[in-house]
Formats: sequence, structure tokens, C-alpha cells
Amino acid sequence: MNQFDDSVLIFDAIQRIHAVADLPWPIPARRIVEPMPLHRLLAACRLAHEEVTGLNRAAIGSYLERWGVQRPDWLEDPTPSIGFLFARANDGTILVNGDVSLNRRRFVVAHTLGHYLLHYRARLQAAEDGTTFAVHEDKGDSVREAEGAGSDKGKSLSETERQANRFAIELLMPETVCRLACQQYAASFAVSPRFLEHQLAGDLLVDREAMRRRLRSLSLT
Ligand SMILES: [Zn+2]
Repeated sequence: MNQFDDSVLIFDAIQRIHAVADLPWPIPARRIVEPMPLHRLLAACRLAHEEVTGLNRAAIGSYLERWGVQRPDWLEDPTPSIGFLFARANDGTILVNGDVSLNRRRFVVAHTLGHYLLHYRARLQAAEDGTTFAVHEDKGDSVREAEGAGSDKGKSLSETERQANRFAIELLMPETVCRLACQQYAASFAVSPRFLEHQLAGDLLVDREAMRRRLRSLSLT
């Protein structure tokens, strides 16, 4: 799938989930730039969300047992995970490693929501039963805030991981919000790129390097 097709797929998923959550998309022009209300999007998908200190395969294995999925080989596996999705047709849970920063945790949640909407939900809902489920585990290396699909490192990721990262970038740093905020700050202050990166990263609760790359990709700095 090329980048044009990715964009259609990703923006369609973002627009649909906003409609279900009764949130506007594109984000309307507002004076106050606010972080994406991820909890409302998760609620619209009936996805629970838990932050787990020291999340690893063993911890995930315990959660899976609770959900009726036996993975005994995982119960002693200390391999760390950054995020995990367990989803059925009409509900599911996202586990996030609680040891990373708030901004990183939000990006992991957005990335995992992207996997659910782009890669699993249609198949689960088509199954029309209560037993089909999907699981997706992410290691830290696949969840990348600061790399576009065209970067060398981005190319080393699978297509689905790149799509989930792009979904999270477009969701957490919407183009309309970035453009409006840059205009507003420029109208009020003598702004430098560093100021914009710092300010918008704080406004939208994203990593500063991620915002730097996002503003550059939109030719705003
Ligand atoms: Zn992923």
C-alpha cells in the first residue's frame, strides 16, 4: 500500500471514530489548543485502558488468563512490552507500560487504537460471534513518535506499524490544530521554532521531538 492509500485509510478511520464519539473532525478553529481527548475515543470503541507498571509478557499472560486465553509460555517471560491490545467484536482492553512518560503513554494508546481501527475491528465485527478475539503486542521500538513514513528508520518497520504510528501522529497533532496554534502564537509573540515546538508539545501533550518533526513536515518551522 502506498502513502496515498495510507492517508485515505487513516483519515477515514480518524473521521469515523470522531463521529462515533460525537467529536468534531476536522478539529474546528478554537482559541484554546487542547490535547486530544483519547478517553472519549476509547469509550466510543468500548476499549478499556490500563496502565501497568513493568508491563511485560508475563503480566500480559496473566491478563490473558483472566480473559480466558491460555498462553502458559508467556507467564514466565520477562520480555518488556510498551503496549498491548486485546480486542473482541464489541469490546477490548489496551494495556500500556506505566513506566514511561505521560506523553509517551498517550502516543502508545493512540498507536494501539490505530491498530484496532485499521487492522482488527472490521475482521472482528465480521465474525459476528462472541469468541473471536485479536491480540497485538508492541515492543518499544515499533512505537515511534518522531519518524515519518519516509524516514530510513521508519522503513524498517512493518506496514502495519508504520500505519499505526502515522495514525497516532495525525490524531494527536492534527494539521488544523498545529496550523491554527502557530498562527495564534505568531500573532501574539515573536516566535522561534524552539518556542513553537516547546509550546505546542505542552499544549497537545506530545513529545517535543515529535512536535519538532511534525511542524517541519507541515512546513510550519
Ligand atoms: Zn504497533
